[in-house]
Amino acid sequence: MNTFLKSDIKFLKGVGSVRAEILNKELGIFTYGDLLSYYPFRYVDRSKFYQISEIEQDSSYIQLKGKIVHVSEAGQRYKSRLVATFTDGERELELLWFKSVNWIKSNIKIGEEIVIFGKPSFYNGKVNMTHPELDTVINRTNAAALEAVYHTTEQMKNRRVESKAIRQMMKSILSNEQLDIPEIFDDEMCEKHKLIPRRKAFRFIHHPPSSRHIDAAQYRFKFEELFFLQLPFIKQKINRGEAEEGIKFNVKNPLFEKFVTKHLPFALTGAQERVLTEIKTDLCTGKQMNRLLQGDVGSGKTIVAFLSVLMAIDNDCQASLMAPTEILAIQHYIGLKEMADKIGIEIGILTGSSKTKERRELHKKLRNGEIKLLIGTHALIEDVVKFKNLGLTIIDEQHRFGVAQRAKLQEKGKINPHVLVMTATPIPRTLAMSVYGDLDYSVIDEMPAGRKPIKTAHRFGFAREKIWAFVKEELARGRQAYIVYPLIEESETLHYKDLNNGYDQLLQFFPRPEYQVEMLHGKMKPADKEAKMKDFADGKTDILVSTTVIEVGINVPNASIMVIESSEKFGLSQLHQLRGRVGRGAEQSYCILISSKKLSENGRTRLKAMVSTTSGFELSEIDMQLRGFGDIAGTRQSGLDQLKLASLSDDADIAEEARNAIVELLQTDPELTNHESLKHFMSSRQGHKAWENIA
Ligand code: ADP
Ligand code: MG
Repeated sequence: MNTFLKSDIKFLKGVGSVRAEILNKELGIFTYGDLLSYYPFRYVDRSKFYQISEIEQDSSYIQLKGKIVHVSEAGQRYKSRLVATFTDGERELELLWFKSVNWIKSNIKIGEEIVIFGKPSFYNGKVNMTHPELDTVINRTNAAALEAVYHTTEQMKNRRVESKAIRQMMKSILSNEQLDIPEIFDDEMCEKHKLIPRRKAFRFIHHPPSSRHIDAAQYRFKFEELFFLQLPFIKQKINRGEAEEGIKFNVKNPLFEKFVTKHLPFALTGAQERVLTEIKTDLCTGKQMNRLLQGDVGSGKTIVAFLSVLMAIDNDCQASLMAPTEILAIQHYIGLKEMADKIGIEIGILTGSSKTKERRELHKKLRNGEIKLLIGTHALIEDVVKFKNLGLTIIDEQHRFGVAQRAKLQEKGKINPHVLVMTATPIPRTLAMSVYGDLDYSVIDEMPAGRKPIKTAHRFGFAREKIWAFVKEELARGRQAYIVYPLIEESETLHYKDLNNGYDQLLQFFPRPEYQVEMLHGKMKPADKEAKMKDFADGKTDILVSTTVIEVGINVPNASIMVIESSEKFGLSQLHQLRGRVGRGAEQSYCILISSKKLSENGRTRLKAMVSTTSGFELSEIDMQLRGFGDIAGTRQSGLDQLKLASLSDDADIAEEARNAIVELLQTDPELTNHESLKHFMSSRQGHKAWENIA
């Protein structure tokens, strides 16, 4: 970047130190270059002048030509407002200002022909416009038809740094003779991927001559964003493909075959078989496997994991399976032990609360290779666990772990063990490619046969008695239910008030000994947790009253009802995970979302979404729209928050185009030796790994 673009924003005409500080604070803009990369969020067509008589209830931003005929100030000293009457010669319109009253007042010239621009609204049957932009007729006649609109914050508006001001700042930069925006892609690439020059793209995005120019500019920048987002991951993947040696497994797997033919409790779905083939292929290449397995809740990832473990054992290797919660680790242990016993293999469990004596015994058996599969929580990586020959590491519900933990786990073996990470987070393929771009990707996109879609309803608290009556009916049919309460986890002293109160009340509706109602939460002793889980899994407990500890992974197919109290307090992906605890068997399952009547806009949308679809995919799309990418696990480190224009859900095709461009580029110039400007740009991008760190 040249020095002009690095100039401090305060030196720009019309900015100065006060406005510069606002731009620093509110938008993170420090230099001319930063400002140029602050793109408009939409455009308005200002080629047309409206008549007041044309204004409709839902009119968007419009401009009108006319005069201000009257101005008055109203209200108290600190809460004053300015009211002006504007006429287009035919009708009248009220203009209102609540801020910068004195400044506006001193600028209004009664009777002079002006142009106003803003969004009209109706109040008491009259039309008005709050905080319109005022301009002279001459200015407007020379102005472009399409005008950029920029997001501004409340603080900015207070200091009159509004969209118009930003437009003017852009104009100062773009018309400066010293401006020089270098190209970062070579001609061939620009031509091949239909990219307009960078220099032009900046002009068009801020001052578009036509909407076609906006499209071309946006395409260029979206491509660029997706290019630099994916480049490090693809580079890493190529490096890994070359360097990381792995344990070469045999194609023949006697234990695996035996289990599949004799003990498999059900026929695998087509998707499960396909995924297993992908895994098997990886394991036999002699390179380290690094695969992400994505499958919606209930799609059957556990059995795929277990069969992969058998392949490892067939090759004289041990395996580990890491789960994000102790309860899930325990469940996996109980479930997998049953299967492992059938073919005579020993498995172990290690969690944060394993006793020293147990640990010692476990360590011994891991070192001498007696234990073939170790299941556990992140204690697996924190503990000084030494395996005799670790060949496969599986991470369940990977989105719950950090990237660092994943890396640490991989250090365990002599040669790098194969890695399989599993997640139910239904991320679109493009997003997966970007967040987990260094991993290969498999997806289970098919549910086991015979599943009925879960019926979901949203009810307010006063319907509880009816809900409990319904639960009783289902229990009478031999089903089981979960009732979940939210828990405020931030505080040191976890308070279980809601849970305890709820439990007490439920005992009145579901009295003992007729009903077995049990409580489960994170603070309980592991042995108690295990006992409660087991009783529920064995059908001894009718209702499990719980916190979100059961959110991930828990699998009790006979449970067909999920009631979620204060459901408005949960995020969408959490609700989806919780609902995924039912609908795991052949029975019709139900999810009942209880909320208070007072709902936020966002809360209402979430609950509506839950009722309208059971597709994790659709829900994650809605979730992304509601929250942006920022909150999705793993996106921070991945640089996804650097996407300004591109959207991974909408711009999948551009993401792919960029990916192809990267692969082509790295094939011909793997170290980017002949692409200095690109390499340089990449390293200068804020928050991005320097090329040297990747290469
Ligand atoms: P998740 O993908 O959410 O981890 P699980 O592996 O826990 O799902 O599987 C959910 C339920 O579906 C379990 O009870 C499991 O035994 C069952 N299941 C898995 N695969 C199949 C299949 N092919 N046919 C029938 N049931 C299956
Ligand atoms: Mg699971």
